[in-house]
Amino acid sequence: MLAGKVALVTGAGRGIGKEIALALAANGATVIVNYNGSKECAEEVVAKIVQNGGCAEAIQCNVSDFAASEAFVKEVLDKYKKVDILVNNAGVTRDNLIMRMTEEDYDIVLDTNLKGAFHMIRHLSRSFIKQRSGKIINISSVSGVLGNTGQSNYSASKAGLIGLTKSVAREFASRGVNVNAVAPGFIDTDMTKGLTEDAKKALNGMIPMGKMGSTKNIADLVLFLAGEQSDYITGQVICVDGGMCI
Ligand code: NAP
Repeated sequence: MLAGKVALVTGAGRGIGKEIALALAANGATVIVNYNGSKECAEEVVAKIVQNGGCAEAIQCNVSDFAASEAFVKEVLDKYKKVDILVNNAGVTRDNLIMRMTEEDYDIVLDTNLKGAFHMIRHLSRSFIKQRSGKIINISSVSGVLGNTGQSNYSASKAGLIGLTKSVAREFASRGVNVNAVAPGFIDTDMTKGLTEDAKKALNGMIPMGKMGSTKNIADLVLFLAGEQSDYITGQVICVDGGMCI
């Protein structure tokens, strides 16, 4: 399905990004497995892809850094000549009530989750426009749609990603480049492992389906959005959340 395509997934050494990288590679794409700190994990993802007959490379980059992201994109384009699928998945949380939130915790979340996606799209924009095709998929969150107590920084970054998605979708629509956002609900990864049992119980109570989602639930939609079945879909926010956003 994706043979001949080059995909770049940010934060692909762990969690949702890892599952997305594995799914894209299993469907024939060559995958750039970006990581920031988790070198070994990213290398394991690459090894798994290669073992299964696929093609992948792990490349370090802190996507919150404008210049580092530019150098990363240059390295990828020099070597692979193009990127067909960009998945902006890298994300962090620094939860706290607004009255206790530090400037540092606000900045790191916005710089990673929102600016990181801006950097990647910005640096790849010429390449996407020149090739007149491509799929950009931004991993937002139900927190960006509904808001969430204790997550004003995270919700702002994820709501910002939705605005970024819609604006870039309009800019790129006539160039054959689709830009969509996926808004996961409560997914079982390292990000949610740290929550207390009480918080998990409260969250489960907010999910009409009554259970957490899996990383595969997200990767399945990303795979659809990365392929030609989604050619007439752009600027959309699709929730994968067991009904949280109904
Ligand atoms: P995770 O397991 O904590 O993984 C986060 C990933 O982001 C890691 O691979 C990490 O890479 C990467 N990352 C963080 N800062 C980075 C940076 N500056 N540059 C490059 N990569 C960076 O989280 P997850 O649950 O898989 O979340 C993935 C995405 O889904 C995030 O955008 C998150 O906000 C979103 N999401 C998750 C849930 C959920 O319930 N889990 C719900 C809604 C949305 P390193 O380890 O290499 O630093």
